[in-house]
Amino acid sequence: MTITKELSNNTKVEDKNKIENAIREILLAIGENPDRTGLLLTPSRVARMYTEIFSGTKQDPKDEITITYTENHDEIILVRDISFYSMCEHHLIPFFGQAHVAYLPRNGVITGLSKLARVVEAAARRPQLQERMTTQIANAIIEKLNPVGVAVVLEAEHMCMSMRGIKKAGSRTITSVLKGIFETNQASRAEVLSLIRK
Ligand SMILES: [Zn+2]
Repeated sequence: MTITKELSNNTKVEDKNKIENAIREILLAIGENPDRTGLLLTPSRVARMYTEIFSGTKQDPKDEITITYTENHDEIILVRDISFYSMCEHHLIPFFGQAHVAYLPRNGVITGLSKLARVVEAAARRPQLQERMTTQIANAIIEKLNPVGVAVVLEAEHMCMSMRGIKKAGSRTITSVLKGIFETNQASRAEVLSLIRK
């Protein structure tokens, strides 16, 4: 599996050990016994999981984009409902939801649809803020494809709002970044937002 490969390629054994030791310390600090049967393998499980869900710290989202050329395609390309899971950098618990990514290509410079999902994934797999993640996705597309316009909308539920603090389960946070023609031209902006909201 790809995940296992990434693990062995990118994660040093000493880093995995550091996570394991830290999780053991946390268990002790909250008054648990890390040596009881149910918790015995927890530090190593969490370490493996962290190297997977934080693998984006070793990736640049824009590297996921490969450029292809097409006959002048001058219509909006939109991938809706790309589901993602990220970790709130303030609380290290998940926020998750859907990303909608649209761009208007310039001179037929496009990328594969699955690459847009990979950009979202790379931006998500790190301690993150939804606002910054939205910007990172837009910037990756701008830097690689130099499109006429980019629109990125993220809708997410934050576990730090659902299970702690104000405990508003089910509330969703929406962030958007509009660049280029989607920022400056009212009609283009309305068109892309209506496609995203469908
Ligand atoms: Zn949070």
